[in-house]
Amino acid sequence: MPNFSDLGLSAPILGALAAEGYAAPTPIQLQAIPPVLSGRDLCGIAQTGTGKTAAFALPILQRLAAVRQRAAPRTCRALVLGPTRELASQIAESFRAYGAAMPLSTAVVFGGVPIVPQRQKLARGVDILIATPGRLLDLIDTGSLALSSVQVLVLDEADRMLDLGFIHALKRIVKLVPRQRQTLLFSATMPRPIAALAEDYLNDPVKVVVAPSATTVERVEQEVVFVPSDRKRDLLATLLRDPVFERVLVFTRTKHGADRVVRHLVSAGLEANAIHGNKSQPQRERALAGFRDGHTRVLVATDIAARGIDVDGVSHVINFELPNVPEDYVHRIGRTARAGAAGIAIAFCSDEERPYLRDIEKLTRCSLRAIPVPSATAVLRSGPIERPAGSRLSRNGSPPPRQGPAASGRHSLPAAGTKFRAGKPSAAGSLPAFLRRPSPTANQRSPRHINQHSED
Ligand code: AMP
Repeated sequence: MPNFSDLGLSAPILGALAAEGYAAPTPIQLQAIPPVLSGRDLCGIAQTGTGKTAAFALPILQRLAAVRQRAAPRTCRALVLGPTRELASQIAESFRAYGAAMPLSTAVVFGGVPIVPQRQKLARGVDILIATPGRLLDLIDTGSLALSSVQVLVLDEADRMLDLGFIHALKRIVKLVPRQRQTLLFSATMPRPIAALAEDYLNDPVKVVVAPSATTVERVEQEVVFVPSDRKRDLLATLLRDPVFERVLVFTRTKHGADRVVRHLVSAGLEANAIHGNKSQPQRERALAGFRDGHTRVLVATDIAARGIDVDGVSHVINFELPNVPEDYVHRIGRTARAGAAGIAIAFCSDEERPYLRDIEKLTRCSLRAIPVPSATAVLRSGPIERPAGSRLSRNGSPPPRQGPAASGRHSLPAAGTKFRAGKPSAAGSLPAFLRRPSPTANQRSPRHINQHSED
């Protein structure tokens, strides 16, 4: 198996990677690092959680450190654009961790927080600037920053940037960056407008495709429960009483919907917090920090606020409401199964949402496995969910010995990457053993536990 030192990375970077506990490069790192180190442009199609931040951050750090040059005041040498505040913070955190032993400065700017400290930071000039487009343009327009010295431009989550309506800002920004530069573009999906951007902005790029566009994160086991809208909150509370739901992200379509779900859970005695665009930046940061450090087991989020959340150990993603944009489903479930771990995604689908489910299954080319709604008593009762004998998990989490044809493995967890076909629900009032995810192997986990992000 190739390791990081085969990729031509320098000693300070190798030391930082060892400190992070990364045993070997991920596929995107393997394919992207050598060409980016040699100065090539790159177009990377990679799912969330594949390690793409390091795929661009490591070679950028190494190339910048190789030239002994200080950034002039109010300029930067590398510019990384991301769609959300939390993603920008996370990228900055990664640059700082990977470049810990290098004499390079990093700054991050995004909206929703005071601009003055950001101006002060830029006044001295920075080597690496990570930004969301809106605040970046504010800083440029007020003379706090010029992009004339940018040598490397990264567009991360380019498909998200289009979704969030950044295309005009993006075009303005790219015009201000020198034509002579290295450009790296990353996207989880490759809709037509992104392909057009790639054509316009990249010069003879190396194309790295880690998974086909819009392929669902493979290690996520995906389930759907058909449940009427008015029973969703009770179903959610029932599921969450089971401790196998260790760290859970719940997605709603609207901000008010997220608040309503939190209120319901809290009144049912479950601790939960919401993160969405109506919350202030400090509130969002507090909510994420609580989720990261385990104080909050359940975080209820809208798409916009959850974009890019990278929290190790998210055991379950629950789509309380299905997104009407099927690509959002791919991003949502990518919040679990990060860094090689396994994860479970459960979609609550009401009758009205069936067309959304069809769109999701068409996009991901994968049918979600239908699981039964617990019976009314199971929904309303307050203890852990009862499972049929054949699927009950033992105290230590291992499945019980199989007995006879009824326990023929229908409920056992499938191998990673298994694609499900919609199946018949099993007996009412029971839930299969889909609730427990396989534990990750030690070297698949990153010791760095969260990172964060969201819209601007
Ligand atoms: P990303 O796709 O860049 O958001 O990365 C997802 C997660 O994978 C982050 O928590 C990283 O710290 C982690 N990670 C990145 N590269 C590696 C690696 N080579 N080995 C283990 N974990 C990694």
